[in-house]
This record gives sequence, C-alpha cells and structure tokens, in this order.
Amino acid sequence: MTIQTSICPRCGQPTEGGLCPECRAANTRLITCEPRVTAVYCPVCDSQKRGKTWADLRIPREDFIAELAISAANIHADAKDLRVTVRSEETGPNRTTCALDLEATLYSVPVHETCEIEILWQKEACDRCSRISGGYYEGIVQVRATDRKINAYERGVATSIAEQTEDSLQEAGDRLSFISELENSKDGVDITVGSQHLGQEIARMVTGALGGRYTTHPKLVGEKDGKALYRVTYSIRLPYYQKGDVVVSRGGYFEVRDIERQQRLRVFDLQAGTARTLTEAEVERLIGNVREAESALVVFTQPDVVGLMDPRTYKTRELDAVPWTFPVEGQPIRVLRDEEQDRLVIVG
Ligand SMILES: [Zn+2]
Ligand SMILES: [Zn+2]
Repeated sequence: MTIQTSICPRCGQPTEGGLCPECRAANTRLITCEPRVTAVYCPVCDSQKRGKTWADLRIPREDFIAELAISAANIHADAKDLRVTVRSEETGPNRTTCALDLEATLYSVPVHETCEIEILWQKEACDRCSRISGGYYEGIVQVRATDRKINAYERGVATSIAEQTEDSLQEAGDRLSFISELENSKDGVDITVGSQHLGQEIARMVTGALGGRYTTHPKLVGEKDGKALYRVTYSIRLPYYQKGDVVVSRGGYFEVRDIERQQRLRVFDLQAGTARTLTEAEVERLIGNVREAESALVVFTQPDVVGLMDPRTYKTRELDAVPWTFPVEGQPIRVLRDEEQDRLVIVG
C-alpha cells in the first residue's frame, strides 16, 4: 500500500494537490473595480438614467451610491460569506469617492480586500423635466359646475384628487403622468396634464367623489415622431345639487345623499328618517349644506317636542321631535337654518 502525499509547491505544506488553500487564496484577486463610473442624473428632480431609461430615485441617495459602487466591482465567483461595506465622500462638485471594503472566505480561508471607485456625476434634463419645461401637455381637465359657480369645498377636493392621482401614477412608474399646471380660475379649476392616462383618471375620480359627469373632446394638434398628437379636454360638469345639500320639497326637508343621472336625487327625509328619491323638478329650494351646519344646545326633550337654544339669538326654540335622532339635554345637536321660514332643521 502506498500513501500518496503531495506538498504545496509554494509553501511546502501537505495538500490534496496543487497549491494549498492559503496559497491559492493569497494568489487570487478577490475583487477588481472599475476605477471610475459615470452616473447621469436630472438636477431638477433627481431622477437617474440607466442606459436610455430614466427612473425616479426611490432609495436614499447614500444607498444609491453604495449600489453604484458595488456594481462597478467584480467579485471573484469563488468568494463566499461576503461582507461589503462602502464609505463615500464628496470629493468635488461632481464627484464622489467610494472606498469599498470586502470581507469574504475564499477556499475556506478568510480574506479581506479594499478598492476605490470614483463616481462622476453628469447632469442632464430628464424626459419628464424636459417635457415640462418645453410646455408639452396632452390634456386639460376642466372642473365646472352646472348653472352655478363651483365652491371652495369642490375646488379643494378636485385639487387634492388631482395631486394624489399624479402621485399614485408616478409611483406606479408612469413618469410622464405629471401635472404641469393647476390653475384656480373664477369659473373653476383647470388641470394641465402630461398624459391622457392622467387626465382620464382625474376626471373619473373627481366625478366619482363629487358626482356629475364628464365628456372628452380630443383635438388633433400635430405630429410627434410620426404619430398624430392629440390634446384632450376633459370637461367635468358637477351637478347643480351636491351631496349634503338640504332641499325643500312639499314642505319637507331632505338631505341629498347621491345624485343620479336624469336629474334624480337620492335623498334622506330629515323628518321621517327614511331614504327616497326626488326629481329635481320636485325640489322647491335649497337651504344649505350639512357641511355648514351649526351646533345648537338641547335645552329639553319631551316625547313630541325638543327645545334647542338658537346659537344665533340664544333663545329657546321648540321643534317637532325627530324620531331618528336622540337628542340629549345639555348636549349639542347639528342644525341647519332655513332663513326663509326662520326655522331650524335638525340634521343629526
Ligand atoms: Zn501553500
Ligand atoms: Zn427631471
């Protein structure tokens, strides 16, 4: 029986053949780095360009720098148990120097190497910012009301819906769905949008929240890269009546809960506490909206009568009890004032 032993030609230790693990590890380059990488970014919005594609920076800048440095490093395929740390320092107005520190095991031998990478930052206007600064747009959403001016509440809702829709489309990667102008005019709100997708979404969401309907009016404005370029006006008409309006019909008071097509209102009977439908023709007048309700103190309650302190005159007024409300003496209850009849209407 012969026992075959080999020894490492470099250090003379016994091995299974060839160099021993220590000498192999010592002989292998763990990491090689490109000394310099160029990163293109938009100075306006901080978007980053990879190849030809722009993307918003969604991670902290420090993490992005570490990612760039690591992508410039080539780590030996046999390395295991990698522990990488990157320290970076701004070394000039357009340069960042990164020290990459790598600990690993190579052929079961712990190894440690470092390298240095310089990131050169190059400014370029991104696809979105160059469209915005060039005045490019694909549509305008016009928010108007039927036979009346739109009010501050509706302006606020339309504006915040527009901004939220822009944010959510951009977060989903639709970079060119931007709002380039949001204008409050005396007629309503005009929202200039960078994509028809955004215009459509805003029109859908605003009519969903405030009622009414919208029509689209495309207009051919020219050609871009061989394709017909349309601009679309999304014309929103908010209904005359709004959610929360309190209307008078045949001597009763009704709160508008929803506005259906063909001028039909889904209402809540503020005396009986039941739901029903009214046509606009059945409405005699509008007394206000529950958003403007006042708070009146309940002075006394009796089976058929409730006494409220009028918040304007501090005098006690007697009202018919409203079966669907539960007034408590000493507690406030919400009322709307019918100026024409000089009455308070309990809205709950
Ligand atoms: Zn050796
Ligand atoms: Zn940009």
